[in-house]
Amino acid sequence: MDFLDKYKYHKDDPSEFGIDLKEFKKNSIELDNSHLSNLLTNSVRVSREILPKVGKAIEIVFERIKIENNFNFFVTADNNQANASCSLMSSASRPDIVLTSRLIELMSLEELQFVIGHEVAHYVYQHALYPNHNNIEDRNLKLNILNLSRAAEISADRIGFLACASLDDSLRANFKLASGLSDKHFNFKPSTYLDQLRDLEDLGKSSSELWSTHPSFLIRMQSLIWFSMTKEYHEFFDRKSKGTYSLNEVDEKLDKKIKKVTGDELETSNKDIYEKALIWGSLDIYLSDKKFSKVEQDEFASRFGTKANKAISLLKMSSARDMLDKKIDVSFTEASKLLKTEKTKLVDELKAIGKETGGDKMKKLKILGKLLNILGVKNPVSF
Ligand SMILES: [Zn+2]
Repeated sequence: MDFLDKYKYHKDDPSEFGIDLKEFKKNSIELDNSHLSNLLTNSVRVSREILPKVGKAIEIVFERIKIENNFNFFVTADNNQANASCSLMSSASRPDIVLTSRLIELMSLEELQFVIGHEVAHYVYQHALYPNHNNIEDRNLKLNILNLSRAAEISADRIGFLACASLDDSLRANFKLASGLSDKHFNFKPSTYLDQLRDLEDLGKSSSELWSTHPSFLIRMQSLIWFSMTKEYHEFFDRKSKGTYSLNEVDEKLDKKIKKVTGDELETSNKDIYEKALIWGSLDIYLSDKKFSKVEQDEFASRFGTKANKAISLLKMSSARDMLDKKIDVSFTEASKLLKTEKTKLVDELKAIGKETGGDKMKKLKILGKLLNILGVKNPVSF
């Protein structure tokens, strides 16, 4: 199944949250049968004989994406929501995919393949092991997790696309899921929706997108259109034409597009947390010898600009050390929830500062060790 990994959207990266999927694959989680017994009681298990359309769609999907079908498929009565879900456990257990009756009414055979491929991808990519934003109070962490959750949907859409082998049907499936409308009600013209996406972009930011677990269908459609232009997509189907972009290029185009829609709130918030930790951590390193000479102060000021003055003025207070300890504790606890890439960058920058500043090396290393400990970075410190 790992061959599908290369189609992942690059922001769909759980290692940024300290999650190692390989570890989960090794330690297979006990199978929980309560969910299955509930499904067997209340839903219809799909078989080719009784549900030929769904049965056929499932067969085609597994043929196309070349993985073994070890899934249970169910249809459940729901006439309001066109929906599909995948209950995911570890890769060692047998996953269940549930489709609503409304979904089956609404979708053509090909569109169903898109939806099924999408759900299968959630299992293949083990998205259920990602952190759950519902349990998180910290605003910045919650936003980062939602960002990951939306990225996971983009990855799953790509497998849905490979599973149905048609851009048009993938787009139509997305449109139907978003609008709830059946064929007889709409003329499908993707360019119209790209216009709607541009209108959304022009607004500068959409907080409903920022706080959503799923990307807007407009982003998803744009993402699929670009995916259809990649070398990787053409290779998958052994097409003669080569494709205009590499998947990497498309990922980057998508990053920009998504940022235009969500706005820069998350980026600004991540940056703010990073910079607070950097300035208080640096100050602690400068003070390792309990001195802060004029030369050091100038150095510190040239590094941190106007923010440095505020930090330096704190040192003039009688309870300076207590205040600084508190600032460090708060700012590094916040920074401990940043993405791994950001934390690594912070550690590297603090190390560079440790190396450049004067004073006893052992004392500086000890401070760095303390800071890394709050950050939850386990690597031994040296510079
Ligand atoms: Zn999904």
